[in-house]
Amino acid sequence: MKWDLSALYKGFDDHQIESDFASLCDAIRDVKQLFAGKGDAGEKLSCFVSLSQTVGEKMELLASYANLSLAADVNNQPAAALRDRVLNLAVDLEIAFSACQRFLGSMANEELEHVVLRDKKLLNVRFALENLKDKANHLLAADTEELVLKMSLTGAEAFSQLRDRLDGMLMVDYRDEALPLSAIRAKAHDTDAQVRKEAYLAELAAYPRIEIPMSAALNSIKGEALTLCAAKHYPSVLEQTLADSNMDAETLGAMLEAIRASLPSFRKYLRRKGEILGHANGLPYYDLFAPLITGDCKPTRYTVEQAKVLLVSQMGKFSPELGEFIRQAFDGNWIDMFPRAGKGGGAFCNGLHSLNTSRILTNFTGSLSDISTLAHELGHAWHNRCMAGLPYLLIATPMPLAETASIFNETFFAHAFRSKATGAEALMMLEADLMEATQVIVDIYSRFLFESAVIEQRKTHALGVHELKEMMLDAQRQSYGDGLDQAFLHPYMWACKPHYYSPRLNFYNFPYAFGLLFGRGVFAQFLQRGNEFVPEYNNLLRICGSYSVADVAAKAGIDVRTVGFWEKSLLTYAGEIDTFITLTDGK
Ligand SMILES: [Zn+2]
Repeated sequence: MKWDLSALYKGFDDHQIESDFASLCDAIRDVKQLFAGKGDAGEKLSCFVSLSQTVGEKMELLASYANLSLAADVNNQPAAALRDRVLNLAVDLEIAFSACQRFLGSMANEELEHVVLRDKKLLNVRFALENLKDKANHLLAADTEELVLKMSLTGAEAFSQLRDRLDGMLMVDYRDEALPLSAIRAKAHDTDAQVRKEAYLAELAAYPRIEIPMSAALNSIKGEALTLCAAKHYPSVLEQTLADSNMDAETLGAMLEAIRASLPSFRKYLRRKGEILGHANGLPYYDLFAPLITGDCKPTRYTVEQAKVLLVSQMGKFSPELGEFIRQAFDGNWIDMFPRAGKGGGAFCNGLHSLNTSRILTNFTGSLSDISTLAHELGHAWHNRCMAGLPYLLIATPMPLAETASIFNETFFAHAFRSKATGAEALMMLEADLMEATQVIVDIYSRFLFESAVIEQRKTHALGVHELKEMMLDAQRQSYGDGLDQAFLHPYMWACKPHYYSPRLNFYNFPYAFGLLFGRGVFAQFLQRGNEFVPEYNNLLRICGSYSVADVAAKAGIDVRTVGFWEKSLLTYAGEIDTFITLTDGK
């Protein structure tokens, strides 16, 4: 039940590793030389497209081998060493690609068009070339870029690593023992109400021990983001984030408007959940993840074989091809299944484009939610499969679209499975879905508000701990409203969530809401149109890196710039909330 990585390399002493490193270094050097000298623009770009294939393939193999080996065993020293070598080379690679981007920026629009129309290879990657060109005026000057990239390794990147270490090392005093923060946070899902509350109080009592360095890390990372944003001539950090995501402000505005309008509905759900758990003033933060156990319903446990059969048969109803693909993923050892010491937590999927396969890490314990996680990750793998054969320049899916196939799979699986469940089990599944959606809609909205406020205030000064706590509480009040008990909010969520500390990605929050609602919207299209939608869906996944977000959606008949689309997705939750209220009346 471990994954098979032998398709990448036979081991860390495999000679192919050094040979691939050499090819990668050569290709990066060639790209730099290509744009340093004179020559025909068409030939240069054609040569660049070919080199980008070598670079993409070798980088993917080396980085994946290091990262996957580390995820399976955090103490794998040769893997850590390989990852550091890859990271250093990534700086070099970015500098080489910037050289190409500067060259594209220096060309007139008509000139690029003329060159592209002459060469099929260039025509094929037109979007990528035009996208690079469009953003060329946001590049740093060539002579400062290398310095800035290297300094960010000791700046925001270093602070981000410090954040992870603080988070990993904090021990929380709980009932006469000291537990890691992750173990304390996991108690939010405990069936015992007293455990949940004590764990929350213990967690809040522990943060002051790391609040100073945490706030320093946050201030430095957001300060650097503001400095870079100004140096790159973006009007705001948010606009830079949108540009990086190939998304427009109109789309974000429409989604946020619909989310704001849906908040009262989510608050109704939260208050009802609070009532069921015996709280009169709304749900306390520590009960957000409380499992609702009703009647004598015990959650069913599944074996891996049962999970496989369920996934193959349920997803096969969408398309037999997808069912067969999932069987292949199980039988071909693509999945590292069980938790074990030294293995990373959570779940993820890593695409291996050049090998037309993926690898999935998960921590399967036999719950239905673990099967749903597998459905999610297999969605990512299917997304990768749909992109098979595309040039590397067209496979980068922007963040907002990256969760389309995963959410679609999750939604499809839940829909198919829930239609068979009855009574207490159906209610538990419904509640689990609403609990998850509350995180992705309401909590994400609070994170968006908080990050907006931090970035605004950081323009003038470094924020103190007290200020950060107040801003977090304010963001939670604005999004959760009376759904949460105002006496039990979470002022330290800024220290808890790693997303605020990503050195490269700002507003690493709204893409989650986009992904969930877009995935649901795509699923609604399938419900309406049935089997004829299947090829269109697969094509939608294939072109995620070939057009802007709005254009990709438009090709599936979806207008993401209108509030109406988002409202429709959110209404599916409003319907579930009404059902939840009816089913729990008087309980
Ligand atoms: Zn995902």
